[in-house]
Amino acid sequence: MQPVPLPLAMAACLACTFALPGCTSPQRATSEPAVVAPATTSVTQTRAQYLMGTIVDITAVAPTEAAAQAALTAGFEEIRRLEQMLSTWIDTSELSQVNRAAGHSPVQVSAETFELLTIALDIAAQTDGAFNIAIGPAVRLWRVTEAQRVPSDIELAIAGQYVDYHMIQLNPAEKTVYLEKPGMQIDVGGIGKGFTAEKVAAVMRRNGATGALIAVSGDFRIFGRRADGSSWPVGIQHPRKPGHLLATIDSTDEAVSTSGDYERFFLKDGVRYHHILDPATLKPARLCQSVTIVADNATLADGYATGIFVLGPVRGLALAERLRLGAAIVDADGRLNVSNRLAQRLKSP
Ligand code: AMP
Ligand code: MG
Repeated sequence: MQPVPLPLAMAACLACTFALPGCTSPQRATSEPAVVAPATTSVTQTRAQYLMGTIVDITAVAPTEAAAQAALTAGFEEIRRLEQMLSTWIDTSELSQVNRAAGHSPVQVSAETFELLTIALDIAAQTDGAFNIAIGPAVRLWRVTEAQRVPSDIELAIAGQYVDYHMIQLNPAEKTVYLEKPGMQIDVGGIGKGFTAEKVAAVMRRNGATGALIAVSGDFRIFGRRADGSSWPVGIQHPRKPGHLLATIDSTDEAVSTSGDYERFFLKDGVRYHHILDPATLKPARLCQSVTIVADNATLADGYATGIFVLGPVRGLALAERLRLGAAIVDADGRLNVSNRLAQRLKSP
Protein backbone atom coordinates (compact mmCIF):
# COMPACT_ATOMS: atom_id res chain seq x y z
CA MET A 1 0.00 0.00 0.00
CA GLN A 2 1.23 3.50 -0.77
CA PRO A 3 2.25 5.78 2.08
CA VAL A 4 -0.38 8.37 2.92
CA PRO A 5 0.31 11.72 4.56
CA LEU A 6 -0.80 11.94 8.17
CA PRO A 7 -4.00 13.92 8.56
CA LEU A 8 -3.17 17.34 9.90
CA ALA A 9 -5.74 17.01 12.62
CA MET A 10 -3.82 14.18 14.26
CA ALA A 11 -1.93 15.65 17.11
CA ALA A 12 0.92 14.48 19.22
CA CYS A 13 1.80 12.40 22.19
CA LEU A 14 4.48 11.14 24.49
CA ALA A 15 4.15 7.42 24.80
CA CYS A 16 3.15 4.85 22.26
CA THR A 17 0.21 2.54 22.20
CA PHE A 18 -2.41 2.94 24.87
CA ALA A 19 -5.88 1.87 25.80
CA LEU A 20 -8.67 4.23 25.03
CA PRO A 21 -10.87 5.41 27.86
CA GLY A 22 -14.57 4.71 28.01
CA CYS A 23 -14.92 0.99 28.50
CA THR A 24 -18.61 1.04 29.37
CA SER A 25 -21.53 0.61 26.99
CA PRO A 26 -23.67 3.62 26.15
CA GLN A 27 -26.51 4.19 28.62
CA ARG A 28 -29.90 2.90 27.48
CA ALA A 29 -32.76 5.42 27.27
CA THR A 30 -35.38 4.69 29.94
CA SER A 31 -38.17 4.52 27.37
CA GLU A 32 -36.55 1.54 25.61
CA PRO A 33 -38.06 -1.89 26.23
CA ALA A 34 -36.28 -3.99 28.86
CA VAL A 35 -33.75 -6.47 27.56
CA VAL A 36 -33.32 -9.93 29.02
CA ALA A 37 -30.14 -9.92 31.09
CA PRO A 38 -27.35 -12.14 29.74
CA ALA A 39 -27.04 -15.52 31.42
CA THR A 40 -23.56 -14.73 32.67
CA THR A 41 -22.14 -11.44 33.84
CA SER A 42 -18.59 -10.21 33.72
CA VAL A 43 -16.69 -7.87 35.97
CA THR A 44 -13.84 -5.54 35.02
CA GLN A 45 -10.95 -4.72 37.35
CA THR A 46 -7.85 -2.63 36.62
CA ARG A 47 -4.50 -2.30 38.37
CA ALA A 48 -1.30 -0.39 37.54
CA GLN A 49 2.17 -0.82 39.02
CA TYR A 50 5.68 0.40 38.28
CA LEU A 51 7.68 -2.66 37.21
CA MET A 52 10.47 -3.36 34.68
CA GLY A 53 11.31 0.33 34.73
CA THR A 54 7.91 1.34 33.40
CA ILE A 55 4.21 1.54 34.18
CA VAL A 56 2.41 -1.75 33.74
CA ASP A 57 -1.34 -1.36 33.39
CA ILE A 58 -3.59 -4.41 33.33
CA THR A 59 -7.35 -4.64 32.90
CA ALA A 60 -8.93 -8.01 33.66
CA VAL A 61 -12.38 -9.33 32.85
CA ALA A 62 -13.73 -12.33 34.80
CA PRO A 63 -17.05 -13.73 36.03
CA THR A 64 -16.61 -12.23 39.52
CA GLU A 65 -14.68 -9.39 41.11
CA ALA A 66 -12.69 -11.89 43.17
CA ALA A 67 -11.73 -13.84 40.04
CA ALA A 68 -10.67 -10.67 38.22
CA GLN A 69 -8.57 -9.59 41.21
CA ALA A 70 -6.98 -13.04 41.46
CA ALA A 71 -6.06 -12.93 37.78
CA LEU A 72 -4.52 -9.46 38.23
CA THR A 73 -2.51 -10.61 41.24
CA ALA A 74 -1.25 -13.65 39.34
CA GLY A 75 -0.37 -11.44 36.34
CA PHE A 76 1.68 -8.98 38.38
CA GLU A 77 3.37 -11.83 40.23
CA GLU A 78 4.43 -13.24 36.86
CA ILE A 79 5.96 -9.91 35.85
CA ARG A 80 8.02 -9.75 39.05
CA ARG A 81 9.22 -13.32 38.47
CA LEU A 82 10.25 -12.61 34.88
CA GLU A 83 11.94 -9.35 35.83
CA GLN A 84 14.15 -11.20 38.31
CA MET A 85 15.02 -13.68 35.56
CA LEU A 86 15.61 -11.33 32.63
CA SER A 87 16.56 -7.84 33.79
CA THR A 88 20.14 -6.93 33.01
CA TRP A 89 19.85 -4.26 35.72
CA ILE A 90 19.50 -6.99 38.36
CA ASP A 91 22.87 -8.60 39.19
CA THR A 92 21.43 -11.99 40.04
CA SER A 93 19.27 -12.38 36.92
CA GLU A 94 20.03 -15.18 34.47
CA LEU A 95 20.94 -12.70 31.75
CA SER A 96 23.32 -10.82 34.06
CA GLN A 97 25.03 -14.14 34.77
CA VAL A 98 25.27 -14.83 31.03
CA ASN A 99 26.78 -11.37 30.46
CA ARG A 100 29.30 -11.77 33.30
CA ALA A 101 30.45 -15.10 31.85
CA ALA A 102 31.09 -13.61 28.38
CA GLY A 103 34.24 -15.10 26.87
CA HIS A 104 34.59 -17.38 29.84
CA SER A 105 31.93 -20.11 30.01
CA PRO A 106 28.44 -21.15 28.89
CA VAL A 107 25.66 -20.52 31.42
CA GLN A 108 22.67 -22.77 31.87
CA VAL A 109 19.37 -20.84 31.85
CA SER A 110 15.68 -21.57 32.34
CA ALA A 111 13.54 -22.83 29.47
CA GLU A 112 11.87 -19.41 29.33
CA THR A 113 15.08 -17.42 29.02
CA PHE A 114 16.24 -19.87 26.38
CA GLU A 115 12.96 -19.47 24.51
CA LEU A 116 13.27 -15.68 24.57
CA LEU A 117 16.84 -15.74 23.25
CA THR A 118 15.92 -18.25 20.54
CA ILE A 119 13.10 -16.01 19.27
CA ALA A 120 15.36 -12.94 19.49
CA LEU A 121 18.04 -14.57 17.34
CA ASP A 122 15.41 -15.63 14.83
CA ILE A 123 14.17 -12.03 14.56
CA ALA A 124 17.80 -10.92 14.16
CA ALA A 125 18.16 -13.29 11.20
CA GLN A 126 14.84 -12.19 9.64
CA THR A 127 15.77 -8.50 9.95
CA ASP A 128 19.35 -8.91 8.66
CA GLY A 129 20.62 -7.93 12.08
CA ALA A 130 18.58 -4.73 12.37
CA PHE A 131 17.17 -6.28 15.53
CA ASN A 132 20.18 -7.26 17.59
CA ILE A 133 20.22 -8.27 21.27
CA ALA A 134 24.04 -8.14 21.30
CA ILE A 135 23.62 -4.33 21.20
CA GLY A 136 24.18 -4.11 24.99
CA PRO A 137 27.60 -2.37 25.00
CA ALA A 138 26.25 0.38 22.73
CA VAL A 139 23.07 0.79 24.80
CA ARG A 140 25.18 1.24 27.93
CA LEU A 141 27.40 3.75 26.12
CA TRP A 142 24.46 5.94 25.14
CA ARG A 143 22.37 5.57 28.30
CA VAL A 144 20.05 7.88 26.41
CA THR A 145 17.98 9.54 29.11
CA GLU A 146 20.54 9.56 31.90
CA ALA A 147 23.76 10.56 30.14
CA GLN A 148 22.44 12.98 27.47
CA ARG A 149 25.83 12.74 25.80
CA VAL A 150 26.81 11.78 22.26
CA PRO A 151 29.57 9.14 22.40
CA SER A 152 32.70 9.76 20.34
CA ASP A 153 33.44 7.81 17.16
CA ILE A 154 36.24 6.01 18.97
CA GLU A 155 33.92 4.93 21.77
CA LEU A 156 31.41 3.65 19.20
CA ALA A 157 34.11 1.82 17.25
CA ILE A 158 35.24 0.05 20.41
CA ALA A 159 31.66 -0.92 21.33
CA GLY A 160 31.26 -2.16 17.74
CA GLN A 161 33.69 -4.98 18.42
CA TYR A 162 31.20 -6.57 20.83
CA VAL A 163 27.83 -6.37 19.09
CA ASP A 164 27.90 -9.30 16.64
CA TYR A 165 24.89 -11.47 17.47
CA HIS A 166 26.49 -14.39 15.60
CA MET A 167 28.77 -14.66 18.61
CA ILE A 168 25.83 -15.63 20.83
CA GLN A 169 25.85 -19.42 21.05
CA LEU A 170 22.68 -21.22 22.11
CA ASN A 171 22.86 -24.92 22.95
CA PRO A 172 19.31 -26.34 22.92
CA ALA A 173 20.31 -29.72 24.36
CA GLU A 174 22.04 -28.20 27.39
CA LYS A 175 19.93 -25.01 27.54
CA THR A 176 23.12 -23.00 27.77
CA VAL A 177 24.05 -19.57 26.45
CA TYR A 178 27.61 -18.58 25.66
CA LEU A 179 28.85 -15.15 24.58
CA GLU A 180 32.05 -15.82 22.67
CA LYS A 181 33.89 -12.60 23.49
CA PRO A 182 34.60 -10.96 26.86
CA GLY A 183 32.81 -7.62 26.94
CA MET A 184 29.73 -8.80 25.04
CA GLN A 185 26.38 -7.96 26.68
CA ILE A 186 22.92 -9.16 25.81
CA ASP A 187 20.19 -6.50 26.08
CA VAL A 188 16.58 -7.64 25.75
CA GLY A 189 15.09 -4.15 26.10
CA GLY A 190 13.67 -4.46 22.57
CA ILE A 191 11.75 -7.70 23.17
CA GLY A 192 11.49 -8.43 26.89
CA LYS A 193 8.34 -6.42 27.57
CA GLY A 194 6.41 -8.16 24.80
CA PHE A 195 7.67 -11.54 26.02
CA THR A 196 6.48 -10.63 29.49
CA ALA A 197 3.06 -9.51 28.25
CA GLU A 198 2.70 -12.83 26.41
CA LYS A 199 3.49 -14.84 29.54
CA VAL A 200 1.19 -12.68 31.67
CA ALA A 201 -1.70 -13.35 29.29
CA ALA A 202 -1.23 -17.11 29.68
CA VAL A 203 -1.08 -16.87 33.47
CA MET A 204 -4.18 -14.68 33.64
CA ARG A 205 -6.16 -17.08 31.47
CA ARG A 206 -5.13 -19.96 33.75
CA ASN A 207 -6.26 -17.88 36.73
CA GLY A 208 -9.78 -17.31 35.49
CA ALA A 209 -9.68 -14.15 33.33
CA THR A 210 -11.89 -14.38 30.25
CA GLY A 211 -10.45 -11.21 28.80
CA ALA A 212 -7.59 -8.80 29.45
CA LEU A 213 -5.64 -5.89 28.15
CA ILE A 214 -2.04 -6.05 29.36
CA ALA A 215 -0.03 -2.91 28.69
CA VAL A 216 3.68 -3.04 29.48
CA SER A 217 4.57 0.48 28.38
CA GLY A 218 4.06 0.42 24.58
CA ASP A 219 3.70 -3.34 24.35
CA PHE A 220 0.12 -4.60 24.49
CA ARG A 221 -1.31 -8.11 24.73
CA ILE A 222 -5.06 -8.38 24.36
CA PHE A 223 -7.16 -11.50 24.79
CA GLY A 224 -10.87 -12.21 24.97
CA ARG A 225 -13.43 -9.44 25.13
CA ARG A 226 -14.52 -6.64 27.39
CA ALA A 227 -17.24 -7.16 29.98
CA ASP A 228 -19.93 -5.94 27.58
CA GLY A 229 -18.75 -8.36 24.88
CA SER A 230 -17.11 -5.71 22.71
CA SER A 231 -13.51 -5.71 21.47
CA TRP A 232 -10.78 -3.60 23.07
CA PRO A 233 -10.12 -0.21 21.46
CA VAL A 234 -6.39 0.43 21.30
CA GLY A 235 -4.98 3.83 20.43
CA ILE A 236 -1.70 4.33 18.57
CA GLN A 237 0.06 7.49 19.63
CA HIS A 238 1.01 10.13 17.15
CA PRO A 239 4.83 10.32 17.17
CA ARG A 240 5.04 14.11 16.91
CA LYS A 241 1.90 15.42 18.62
CA PRO A 242 1.93 14.52 22.31
CA GLY A 243 -1.45 13.55 23.69
CA HIS A 244 -2.94 12.83 20.27
CA LEU A 245 -3.65 9.61 18.45
CA LEU A 246 -2.40 8.56 15.05
CA ALA A 247 -5.13 5.93 14.72
CA THR A 248 -7.08 3.33 16.66
CA ILE A 249 -7.74 -0.35 16.14
CA ASP A 250 -10.23 -2.72 17.75
CA SER A 251 -8.51 -5.78 19.16
CA THR A 252 -9.51 -9.13 20.60
CA ASP A 253 -6.82 -11.82 20.53
CA GLU A 254 -3.50 -10.34 19.42
CA ALA A 255 -0.57 -8.16 20.36
CA VAL A 256 0.11 -4.53 19.45
CA SER A 257 3.59 -3.07 19.99
CA THR A 258 4.89 0.37 19.19
CA SER A 259 8.49 1.54 18.99
CA GLY A 260 9.02 5.27 18.67
CA ASP A 261 11.81 7.83 18.68
CA TYR A 262 9.72 9.95 21.07
CA GLU A 263 9.73 7.47 23.95
CA ARG A 264 13.22 8.05 25.33
CA PHE A 265 15.36 10.75 23.76
CA PHE A 266 17.30 13.94 24.27
CA LEU A 267 17.81 16.88 21.94
CA LYS A 268 21.24 18.32 21.27
CA ASP A 269 22.02 21.02 18.72
CA GLY A 270 18.60 20.41 17.23
CA VAL A 271 19.22 16.70 16.74
CA ARG A 272 17.04 14.06 18.37
CA TYR A 273 19.05 11.24 19.98
CA HIS A 274 16.78 8.35 20.93
CA HIS A 275 17.07 4.83 22.31
CA ILE A 276 16.65 2.61 19.22
CA LEU A 277 20.09 2.08 17.75
CA ASP A 278 21.03 1.02 14.25
CA PRO A 279 23.49 -1.85 14.80
CA ALA A 280 25.33 -0.81 11.62
CA THR A 281 26.28 2.60 13.03
CA LEU A 282 25.50 2.17 16.76
CA LYS A 283 23.75 5.54 16.45
CA PRO A 284 20.00 6.21 16.73
CA ALA A 285 18.14 4.76 13.73
CA ARG A 286 17.00 7.57 11.44
CA LEU A 287 14.44 6.15 8.99
CA CYS A 288 11.28 6.15 11.15
CA GLN A 289 9.42 8.16 13.76
CA SER A 290 7.36 5.21 14.96
CA VAL A 291 6.48 1.64 14.08
CA THR A 292 3.42 -0.25 15.32
CA ILE A 293 3.31 -3.99 14.75
CA VAL A 294 0.24 -6.17 15.19
CA ALA A 295 0.94 -9.90 15.55
CA ASP A 296 -0.61 -12.97 17.13
CA ASN A 297 2.15 -13.06 19.69
CA ALA A 298 3.49 -10.21 21.84
CA THR A 299 7.12 -11.36 21.76
CA LEU A 300 7.13 -11.13 17.98
CA ALA A 301 5.23 -7.84 17.93
CA ASP A 302 7.78 -6.23 20.29
CA GLY A 303 10.88 -7.59 18.56
CA TYR A 304 9.69 -6.78 15.05
CA ALA A 305 8.55 -3.27 16.04
CA THR A 306 12.12 -2.50 17.11
CA GLY A 307 13.73 -4.29 14.15
CA ILE A 308 11.43 -2.74 11.54
CA PHE A 309 12.01 0.69 13.08
CA VAL A 310 15.69 0.20 12.23
CA LEU A 311 15.00 -1.28 8.77
CA GLY A 312 12.90 1.73 7.80
CA PRO A 313 9.67 2.02 5.79
CA VAL A 314 10.72 0.33 2.55
CA ARG A 315 12.53 -2.76 3.80
CA GLY A 316 10.36 -2.84 6.92
CA LEU A 317 7.09 -2.88 5.01
CA ALA A 318 8.38 -5.58 2.67
CA LEU A 319 9.34 -7.74 5.65
CA ALA A 320 5.98 -7.14 7.34
CA GLU A 321 4.17 -8.25 4.18
CA ARG A 322 6.35 -11.35 3.86
CA LEU A 323 5.70 -12.33 7.50
CA ARG A 324 2.02 -11.23 7.31
CA LEU A 325 2.43 -8.82 10.19
CA GLY A 326 0.22 -5.82 10.72
CA ALA A 327 2.46 -2.76 10.38
CA ALA A 328 1.84 0.97 10.66
CA ILE A 329 5.12 2.70 9.93
CA VAL A 330 5.54 6.46 10.25
CA ASP A 331 8.63 7.32 8.25
CA ALA A 332 11.13 10.10 8.94
CA ASP A 333 8.97 12.59 6.98
CA GLY A 334 5.86 11.75 8.99
CA ARG A 335 4.20 9.71 6.26
CA LEU A 336 2.19 6.66 7.27
CA ASN A 337 2.84 3.31 5.56
CA VAL A 338 0.42 0.49 6.33
CA SER A 339 0.74 -3.24 5.61
CA ASN A 340 -2.11 -5.21 4.06
CA ARG A 341 -3.05 -6.97 7.30
CA LEU A 342 -3.77 -3.63 8.93
CA ALA A 343 -5.06 -1.63 5.97
CA GLN A 344 -8.76 -2.25 6.64
CA ARG A 345 -8.45 -2.02 10.41
CA LEU A 346 -6.85 1.35 11.19
CA LYS A 347 -9.45 3.92 12.14
CA SER A 348 -9.12 7.65 12.42
CA PRO A 349 -9.08 8.67 16.06
P1 AMP B 1 11.63 -0.90 21.97
O1 AMP B 1 11.12 0.22 22.81
O2 AMP B 1 10.88 -2.19 22.13
O3 AMP B 1 11.79 -0.53 20.53
O4 AMP B 1 13.07 -1.26 22.52
C1 AMP B 1 14.09 -0.31 22.62
C2 AMP B 1 15.18 -0.89 23.48
O5 AMP B 1 15.76 -2.01 22.82
C3 AMP B 1 16.32 0.06 23.75
O6 AMP B 1 16.09 0.84 24.91
C4 AMP B 1 17.50 -0.89 23.90
O7 AMP B 1 17.49 -1.44 25.21
C5 AMP B 1 17.17 -1.99 22.91
N1 AMP B 1 17.66 -1.75 21.55
C6 AMP B 1 18.09 -0.59 20.99
N2 AMP B 1 18.40 -0.77 19.70
C7 AMP B 1 18.14 -2.10 19.42
C8 AMP B 1 18.27 -2.90 18.25
N3 AMP B 1 18.69 -2.41 17.08
N4 AMP B 1 17.92 -4.22 18.35
C9 AMP B 1 17.47 -4.74 19.53
N5 AMP B 1 17.35 -4.02 20.65
C10 AMP B 1 17.67 -2.72 20.61
MG1 MG C 1 10.46 -3.75 20.80
